[in-house]
Amino acid sequence: MNELDLMTKIVSLCKRRGFVFQSSEIYGGLKSAYDYGPLGVELKRNIAAAWWRSMVYERDDIVGIDASIIMHPKVWETSGHVAGFSDPLVDCLNCKERFRGDKAPRAEVGSEVVFHEGGKSSGKKLKGNVGACGYVCPVCSSPNLSDERQFNGMFRTTLGPVDPLAEFFKEIKEKNLDEREMRAKYEECLKRSLVYLRPETAQAMFVQFLNVQQTTSMKVPFGIAQQGKSFRNEIVVEHFIFRSCEFEQMEMEFFIEPGTQDQWLKYWTDERMSWYKKYANSGESFRLRQHDKTELAHYSDDCYDVEYLYPWGWGELEGIASRTDYDLKRHGAATGSKLSYFDQNKADPETGKPGWRYVPYVIEPAAGLTRTVLAMLLDAYCEEKSVDANGQEKVRVLLKLHPALAPSKAAVLPLVKKDGQPEKAEAIAKELRRAGLNVACDDAQSIGKRYAKHDEVGTPFCITVDTQTLEDQTVTLRDRDTAQQERLTIPAAVAKVVEACRHP
Ligand code: ATP
Repeated sequence: MNELDLMTKIVSLCKRRGFVFQSSEIYGGLKSAYDYGPLGVELKRNIAAAWWRSMVYERDDIVGIDASIIMHPKVWETSGHVAGFSDPLVDCLNCKERFRGDKAPRAEVGSEVVFHEGGKSSGKKLKGNVGACGYVCPVCSSPNLSDERQFNGMFRTTLGPVDPLAEFFKEIKEKNLDEREMRAKYEECLKRSLVYLRPETAQAMFVQFLNVQQTTSMKVPFGIAQQGKSFRNEIVVEHFIFRSCEFEQMEMEFFIEPGTQDQWLKYWTDERMSWYKKYANSGESFRLRQHDKTELAHYSDDCYDVEYLYPWGWGELEGIASRTDYDLKRHGAATGSKLSYFDQNKADPETGKPGWRYVPYVIEPAAGLTRTVLAMLLDAYCEEKSVDANGQEKVRVLLKLHPALAPSKAAVLPLVKKDGQPEKAEAIAKELRRAGLNVACDDAQSIGKRYAKHDEVGTPFCITVDTQTLEDQTVTLRDRDTAQQERLTIPAAVAKVVEACRHP
C-alpha cells in the first residue's frame, strides 16, 4: 500500500465509521479542530485509561491531578511561555502560503531553485536563489519569502465581564497616538483581564507541587500526572489529528534528587517505549531519538523524543525531557513560595550537616493523547487480500487494535431477527457489560457484512447466536485477527473475551 494512501484510508475510515469528524462540519468545518465520534471517544478514553493505569494505578510513587485550563496569567510569564512560546512565521511571496520557518525544507544558501509562478503547475517556470534563511516554501519551493516574525502560539482571551476594547477607546480618545503607541495602549487595556488557554498541562504540576506533596506526604522521587486539553494556535495544522490547535496531552512531572537525572531519564525512556510496544503490533515503528545540544530548550540538560514512523516519515509522539530545577525555581522565585523538599535522612552536600533541603530536579514524559490515537490507528490498520469462490479478489479491512484499547470488545450478533435469538444476544451482551466491557449488539445486515464492519472498527470478537444456541447454550466466538470461529458455551465465550481484554 502506498504509504500516503494509508493516511487517506484512515481519515476516510474515521469519518465513515464514527471515529473522528471534522469540527462543525455542517458549517463548512473548522480546519484546526476535530470531534471524536462514538467509536473515537472510546478509543481515546481507552488509551488515556491505559496511560493512567500504568502511571498512577500500578505504582505508589505517582499521584494524579486535574487542573483548570485557565491559570493565573503570571504562570505563563514565569514559565517563559509569554516571551518564548513562539514559532517563526513566514509568508511565501509567490504562492501566499503561510508556514513555520523552522519546519520548512532546507536548501543551501545562494543555490538556485526552480518554481512555478503563483505556485500553480500551469504557472510560468521561474528561477531564484535561496536567501540567508536557508529554506524554501514547503508548498511551491519558492525562495521569495517574507522575513520571519515570531508568532506566539498561546490563545488569549479575557476573564470577567470587561470589554478591553471599550476601555481602549475610552483611553485613546482625544489622544493623538501613533500605531505603536496605540498597540501598547491596547495591550495595556487587555492585560487587565487577559488570560491564556494553557498550551501544555505541565505547569499546573509545578504550581501545585507544594499542595500535592504536603497533602500526600509523597517522598522524592515521586511524580504528579495529568491528562487534559491543551491549546496551541499552530501556524500550520497538519496530518489530520497529528497537529491541531485543540488537542489532549498526558504529562507527568517526576521530581527527583539533583544529580540523579541521568538514571531517571534512562528509566523513563525505557518505561515509555515499553508502554507503546505493549499495545502496538509493530514495535519497529517506535524509536527513541536523543535531541542534539542545539535542539535543547535552555532549561533542559537532556531530552529524547519517542518517535513514530508516520506515513510521511518519523515524527514526534512524546517528548521525555530532563528539565532540571528550572520550573520550580522560577515559580518559587516569582511567588516567594518555598517550592523545595526537605530530606531528613540525607546530609546537606555543602555543609555536611544532617538534613538536606533542595529544589527537586524533574523528568517529564509528555505524550500527546490525540496523537497516540492516530499512531494506534495507523499501527492497527490492515488489509488482507483473498480470492472468493467466484474467483473475485476480496479485501478484508481490519483494525488490529489491542483488545484493551478497542472501542467495542465484542459484537453479539443474532443470526436472524426471530426465534428468540435477538433476546438471547441481548442477555449475553448484558453479561459482558456486567463484567465492565463495552459491547455492541448488532442485528442489522447479513452476518458477513456484520463481520466485515466489526473487523473494520477493531472489535476483537464477534459472538454469534444461532438456532443451536437456544438448544444447547453454545455460541460461535469469532476472532477478528484470524477470522477463525470456535463453538463454546456462553460462560466460556464470555470468560475468553474478558481475559483477552485485560491490559498487558
Ligand atoms: P511538535 O514538535 O510536534 O510541535 P512539541 O515538541 O512542541 O511537538 P511538546 O511541547 O513536547 O510538543 O508536547 C508534548 C506532546 O504533545 C507532543 O509530543 C505531541 O504528542 C503533543 N502535541 C504537541 N502539540 C500538538 C498539537 N498541536 N496537536 C496534537 N498534539 C500535539
